[in-house]
Amino acid sequence: LRRYPGQAIVDLAAMRDNMRHLVDVVGGPRSSTAVMGVVKADAYGHGLIPSALAALAGGATWLGTAQSHEALALRKAGIGPDRCHVLTWVYNGARAPFDELIEHDIDISLGSMDGIEAVAAAARSLGRPARVHIKVDTGFGRNGFTEQAFDAALARLVPLAKEGVLHIVGQWSHLAVADAPNVPAFVTSTDRQIDHFQDFTRRMERAGIAPEIRHLANTAATLTRPQIHFELTRPGIALYGYEADRAMGEPADFALTPAMTLQAQLATVKDVEAGHGISYGRTYLTDEPTSTAIVPLGYADGIHRSASGFDEVGARHTDKEGGPVRVMTRQGPRVLHVSGRVCMDQFILDLHGHAADMGVAEGDTVELFGPGRGERYGEPTADDWAKTAETISYEIFTCLRNRIPRLYR
Ligand code: PLP
Repeated sequence: LRRYPGQAIVDLAAMRDNMRHLVDVVGGPRSSTAVMGVVKADAYGHGLIPSALAALAGGATWLGTAQSHEALALRKAGIGPDRCHVLTWVYNGARAPFDELIEHDIDISLGSMDGIEAVAAAARSLGRPARVHIKVDTGFGRNGFTEQAFDAALARLVPLAKEGVLHIVGQWSHLAVADAPNVPAFVTSTDRQIDHFQDFTRRMERAGIAPEIRHLANTAATLTRPQIHFELTRPGIALYGYEADRAMGEPADFALTPAMTLQAQLATVKDVEAGHGISYGRTYLTDEPTSTAIVPLGYADGIHRSASGFDEVGARHTDKEGGPVRVMTRQGPRVLHVSGRVCMDQFILDLHGHAADMGVAEGDTVELFGPGRGERYGEPTADDWAKTAETISYEIFTCLRNRIPRLYR
């Protein structure tokens, strides 16, 4: 720890318990619905392998990654097909390592004609069927066959399945707005996606293809739409302890515990006069004699510059509260905010008091976010950082760079 100015502590037991809860939500370990731990993007910045193992310990029987090298990394770390299925869904068309994926028993998403041909060619040359999930575009407009393109896709899929080149394991799609269960227009839009999904199923059945597994639900739908759990759900953010959108409520409302705590050790602590300009652009001026403390993490660590805090109404800025930081003072914990602009390697806190009186000193550990219930309870979470940075918790985690060590407990 002495070597690093800050660290992300990842609570694997919390992650395991979040997964246990998700398994309960879909009906328990013996339910006909399985749960996939979505561990793409280095497990949303929490670390691929430890997070994957925590998800499995919590009862996940599937793991999902966007990129194929992450799926391969799971298998190469010893998470074999006897432990779980792995599905991967983003690759660069014909150039993906389909042969390696097939050899490692990794399920492949198919949502384009080029993909069908490339995967079939790899399976043929290996003499081994590829396990595939047919991705359909039900209204998200990203990957997957559109309704118009689906007849042509079926015309290729049916013979390849009959020949045993493709084993069609699944049919799947992704939801656009399931994280807004309180917005009627979005509920209607999700309903429409579900209808389209069922249409695709009927078309597959009519063509003689009946995938064993259908999956549509992300975190938001896993938590709020039991009728579309089907045989598998794919929560990602809930594994890490967050609901999909802070408008849905606090993590605790969904019995989830944020797994990551982001801490730093304070650098320079000093007294300054009233009217002292803080950081680039002097967008923040102290309004009383006070102390400042430096948090030695910056945008090169993935702390969003948009989480800067402005307190000087100049030509360009209005007041805006910066990202919250929980500081232990002699009087108890206190939430302070980024004062002025976030720099590359550090940002500054106005302590709104004198460090000596508050008992705050260089080297003290402070918390940017942790397992709490939210800033309004004095316990900032990644959602609070997301709010001030005008983004989502997903981006807060995945932006954290490797310069911040992940420590596991
Ligand atoms: N399924 C797919 C295809 C995804 O891309 C994602 C992540 O964005 C997920 C599931 C998990 O979503 P969430 O983290 O909202 O649960």
